[in-house]
Amino acid sequence: MELFDEMTARGHEQVVFFQYEPAGLKAIVAIHSTLLGPALGGLRMWPYASEEEALKDVLRLSEGMTYKAAVTGLNLGGGKAVIIGDPEKDKSEALFRALGRFVGSLGNRYITAEDVGTGVEDMEFIFQETDRVVGVHPVHGGSGDPSPYTAFGTLQGIRACTDRKFGHSDLGKLSFAVQGAGHVGLNLIERLRKEGAKVFCSDINESRVSEAQDRFGAEPVPMHEIYDVDADVFAPCALGGVINAETLPRLKFSVVAGSANNQLESEEFGTELEARGILYAPDYAINAGGLINVAIELQGYNADRAFNAVRAIYNNISNIFNIAERDGIPSWQAAKRLATERIRTISSLRAPYSRRFKDQLSGRTPKLSHH
Ligand code: NAD
Repeated sequence: MELFDEMTARGHEQVVFFQYEPAGLKAIVAIHSTLLGPALGGLRMWPYASEEEALKDVLRLSEGMTYKAAVTGLNLGGGKAVIIGDPEKDKSEALFRALGRFVGSLGNRYITAEDVGTGVEDMEFIFQETDRVVGVHPVHGGSGDPSPYTAFGTLQGIRACTDRKFGHSDLGKLSFAVQGAGHVGLNLIERLRKEGAKVFCSDINESRVSEAQDRFGAEPVPMHEIYDVDADVFAPCALGGVINAETLPRLKFSVVAGSANNQLESEEFGTELEARGILYAPDYAINAGGLINVAIELQGYNADRAFNAVRAIYNNISNIFNIAERDGIPSWQAAKRLATERIRTISSLRAPYSRRFKDQLSGRTPKLSHH
């Protein structure tokens, strides 16, 4: 890979490689954009087959964070970090503290958080070296597990979808197929059932399905049949790439709205959903509850404020649909348009301001000594 070509094509500002041999640390931090604020994005630990694979992943993920923060209306940019290593075998205090020092050296440009392969205990080690980390333990003023906020946000997005599609958000009158009864999925199932909705659910792990059935009265569906369920809304809360050439012709739903990242195998499937009259809530906009929650941590964490802030997802999703209608484009494209427009207008606001600011200061001469 020609790294500068790749960075230029995607618009990355900075890519930093860190190593600390005594702890076996090999990490890459990619800062895609700081135009709206410090780049925030999780730290993924994964046994990547090659350095190139790790680099590609961090470039892709950090770019996604820019759009997610922008579309959500946060004053944050996009970034991401990866550690090349096996989270089952290669974790240590020294590894995360070394990473923490390196993250600290980036100043206010990058803030890290947990992601696949890392957890709150790892963030605690990082926090010993730098305050540029969120998702630390609640006893240290952190926000803890983000999944209830993600589930609550997904529910707000679902309401925006049903209002648009059916003219109401009385979820008790509707049926749902939830794929994945994990941290987010199970919480969402609980919330939907409280509204009186009919809920079907599947999970690769039988015990998760049993829990959804026993605790909340969800109806189990065999894993591969979730796409064929005759329900109003499909909520993917497990894997990415589930809207693809194989599944698309099977979908009878009116709405696709769930928490999973990268639901569309590629963007063309978003256009296909639209063509089939299925309303799609862009994944990175509807699943931003967790990001909003950690963003609140930067201002001094408060759970009530976090839940309130997450309610904005209803308006964000509605706004995306408004843009889609106004411009005659599919919702995935409208989300991207909203994000890039916000980055463009807000960051260009800043330039003349900082020039003015500089002009005011230009008459001053730095004081080099007291004598
Ligand atoms: P999780 O690991 O707790 O839950 C995922 C569930 O999906 C598990 O129960 C797993 O057994 C199940 N699963 C895996 N493969 C499956 C398959 N083929 N069919 C059905 N079920 C399958 O993860 P989570 O934290 O609940 O996150 C769910 C999704 O939401 C992920 O895509 C994640 O990236 C995304 N997300 C989560 C958060 C958050 O706050 N946790 C925030 C934003 C996005």
